[in-house]
Amino acid sequence: MKLALHWKILIGMLLGLLFGFLMDIFEQNQLVVDWVKPFGTIFINLLKMIAVPLIIVSLISGLADLKDISKLSALGGKTIRMYLLTTVTAVTIGLLLANIVKPGNYINEESRKSLLVNFAGDAAVKINLAQETKNTGPLQPLVDIVPDNFFAAASNNASMLQVILFVILFGIGLILIDEKKAKPVVDFFKGLNDVILKIIEFIMLAAPIGVFALMAALMVEIPDFSTLQALLVYGLTVIFGLLFMMYVFYPGLLLLFTKVKPKRFFKAMAPAQLLAFSTSSSAATLPVTMECVIDNLEIDEEVASFVLPLGATVNMDGTSLYQAVAAIFIAQALGIPLDLQTQLMIILTASLASIGSAAVPSAGMVMLVIVLGQAGIPEAGLALIFAIDRPLDMFRTAVNVTSDACVTVIVASSVEKKKHKHKH
Ligand code: ASP
Repeated sequence: MKLALHWKILIGMLLGLLFGFLMDIFEQNQLVVDWVKPFGTIFINLLKMIAVPLIIVSLISGLADLKDISKLSALGGKTIRMYLLTTVTAVTIGLLLANIVKPGNYINEESRKSLLVNFAGDAAVKINLAQETKNTGPLQPLVDIVPDNFFAAASNNASMLQVILFVILFGIGLILIDEKKAKPVVDFFKGLNDVILKIIEFIMLAAPIGVFALMAALMVEIPDFSTLQALLVYGLTVIFGLLFMMYVFYPGLLLLFTKVKPKRFFKAMAPAQLLAFSTSSSAATLPVTMECVIDNLEIDEEVASFVLPLGATVNMDGTSLYQAVAAIFIAQALGIPLDLQTQLMIILTASLASIGSAAVPSAGMVMLVIVLGQAGIPEAGLALIFAIDRPLDMFRTAVNVTSDACVTVIVASSVEKKKHKHKH
């Protein structure tokens, strides 16, 4: 019997964890870093390599299929509304949880001091990174979406939104010009689309090995375990919130708005979720998310190739929930009281910060600095949560990707319904 891909990925992950754990015990960490980790890096590079071409080609062929502009704006409006709804829900849940559990109160004076000292340097790097963002005007995010050079944007994985903007303009142009002239261009991109999907199939053959290497490297590179205990409650609070989103909120949305059964949804999305978990990057996972949604859930390609690339960059429920919990946790741990107004402000800043986060590992933590700054919580508090950020990143990225897929299914089914109405 041929084992399904997500089982192979899961087995790769578990074996990698076990292998890394054993190598750590035998103090062979350098061996893993030198000889195993590179395969993980190669795998992630392969996925990143295909991300920009995939977005360009799939978005153009998706847009070309829409055939008229009113369809596009209806699709866009619906997508953005759903993305905002899920993000704000996530932050709110995070805030509620952090206020109920009060994870920050579990930290004792001693471990607080040791954490602050241990990670002060690392935290400083992140603070500097975010400072650059913070020193700009209120309209900077808008300015940032518009590239001054398309090729520069396309050659940088961090400027996906810029690429998307150009491609949307290109797609609109393609819809508006004479059909006879548009056809060869559309056909070209459709063919190209198939080629890229084929390449992704090749890359995914290497997934089990790639995640094995990633997990093994993670195990040997995790800093000192002794501090982990103090952070357990905080970590569990974040994870509990993320699990709530994953297994209560999204299934609820699916039941409410679509005919897709949650069980089928999760089975179809398993490869993407596992990959998100092991790469901590929604952008790197995007090719597989697309494949799962289009092939396994049989969602219209024209909807998926518009909604998913956008979601990978702007819709990060897991990240926003995490930012809310982390901000409150740090404030509690440092003994800073937060009034209701500040907490409501966190809903806004965490939503915006999650939209602004790049879909790469640790991006959510960089943007957390902005949430902290707005709420008047010392940014150095970041040092408190540094040690367990990576595992939390894995969970929140899985939620980010699940949310994108869930919204895609909802948008697709509302488009379906409209079609039916027109027919009758
Ligand atoms: N790693 C996350 C993602 O790619 C972003 C984050 O750091 O929260 O979705």
